Amino acid sequence: MTAIQHYAAYRPRPFVPAERADTTILFGGLTWKHERLIQGAFENCGYRAEMLPNISREDLDLGKELTDVGACCPTTFTTGNLARFLKQRAKTEGKEAVSNKYIFLTAGACGPCRFGQYHESYTMALDGIGLRDFRLFLFDQTQLDQGSLPGGGMEINLPFSLGLVYGLLCGDILTDLEYKTRPYEVEPGATDRMLVKAVERMYEAFRHRPKRGQKWTTVAWHLLSDHFTSALRDVKKMWETIEVDRLRVKPIVKITGEFWLQTHEGDGNYGIKRWLEQEGAEVVPPPVAVWMDYLIYLGLGKLEDRAAIDPKARKKARMMRLVARVYRWSYDRLRKAVDGVARPLPDQLELRRLAAPYYNFRIDGGEGYMLVGKALSAHLHKHAHMICELSPYSCMPNTMSIGAMAGVAGKHPDLLYAPIEVKGDAEVHALSRCQMVLTEAKRRAQKEFEETLEKAGITMEEAKRRAAARPEMRRSTWNVPHRDRVGVAANAVLHLAR
Ligand code: SF4
Repeated sequence: MTAIQHYAAYRPRPFVPAERADTTILFGGLTWKHERLIQGAFENCGYRAEMLPNISREDLDLGKELTDVGACCPTTFTTGNLARFLKQRAKTEGKEAVSNKYIFLTAGACGPCRFGQYHESYTMALDGIGLRDFRLFLFDQTQLDQGSLPGGGMEINLPFSLGLVYGLLCGDILTDLEYKTRPYEVEPGATDRMLVKAVERMYEAFRHRPKRGQKWTTVAWHLLSDHFTSALRDVKKMWETIEVDRLRVKPIVKITGEFWLQTHEGDGNYGIKRWLEQEGAEVVPPPVAVWMDYLIYLGLGKLEDRAAIDPKARKKARMMRLVARVYRWSYDRLRKAVDGVARPLPDQLELRRLAAPYYNFRIDGGEGYMLVGKALSAHLHKHAHMICELSPYSCMPNTMSIGAMAGVAGKHPDLLYAPIEVKGDAEVHALSRCQMVLTEAKRRAQKEFEETLEKAGITMEEAKRRAAARPEMRRSTWNVPHRDRVGVAANAVLHLAR
């Protein structure tokens, strides 16, 4: 008779303080810009940290081999990414060294989507590659002060969490600068070269963040210190040397969709943001900051539901409203340091209101009501000619949002909407679908521009002549005032006509 082997859930060995100096904390899942700043925040707290390499097509193949077939596309990609990295390191350093000298840290949550089960896929992959001993740890994305990881080798405390949050906010601001500049740069490659310098300047700011002891002094320092704003002002000074041509007519494409897919830049979403730029568009990237704002409002909504019967919930809801205001104010403070070139956060209550006829805001999971709300907000406020929505295969929350978008498209037939299903291995099909809608967006942008010239009573030559006489028009950190047109070139013409 063979002994029964009961199922045992994965439980990592403790990570103890004595191991800290020799252990590298692995992390990933965002853009290289966000990750580099987060690396600075890790190092500032005394940890060694390394970003996982950017996702590639091979990660999908390995992820499919190692995890269950029903997993959604982001789970498959990220699982494959971690597994491929560990396999490579095991080859060069040995399995024992990988198990002892590295740990993986990732955010966890609960709810109706796969995000709450990513770690299950990771542990399946560890079994598959023979690294069950490797340690992976979860932290709760909604808690800033969670105490230590098992073993006490790492503290998820306020200095660490606020470093992460500010890394994400500053990463968003650099990303907005990047996407607002590159399509209009006069010298090809100037934006990408400057971006590397800007990220390094901010990385140093995170690495050398002054140490704060107490909880409230840490919070107050982050809210009031000019440490990050002054680093961003340095970035702005460097950035404004990039010369731009604002009279290039470009359709503006807003990216929405599932959190990981829309944030990612690379094979995981067919490199769609770069591809759209190469096809002549300006892309509006989705900031991670919007997701954190959404989480705050999600918590607030739940508290408000209970407030009528629970005085404690009423008190907490008041506190949460204050947190929401402070959060927005902090983001605006960072934006101001780059002259407000980075876009403001959308108003969550407005997104809810716009989405309400199609999607109940209490439905949790994935992007919730935001997918519908963001599309309508960009369309109605004339912030985009077209919405490109990235939907992962095998994603339940996203399937619901796409269903709701069918109702939106019926009520707003002039909203150009390109839902792209991302499976990782159907690139040509996905991009050609996107291209069909993009062709119409280009036509609309051109028509809007020509009508604006006509309305302003000037020719293109005259617009160019006037632009040449105004140095601010060539400066990449100058914001073209938004004057009832979608396209940058059309708004620039209205500005020049005044
Ligand atoms: S939202 Fe969808 S794609 Fe994203 S983690 Fe959840 S199930 Fe997966």
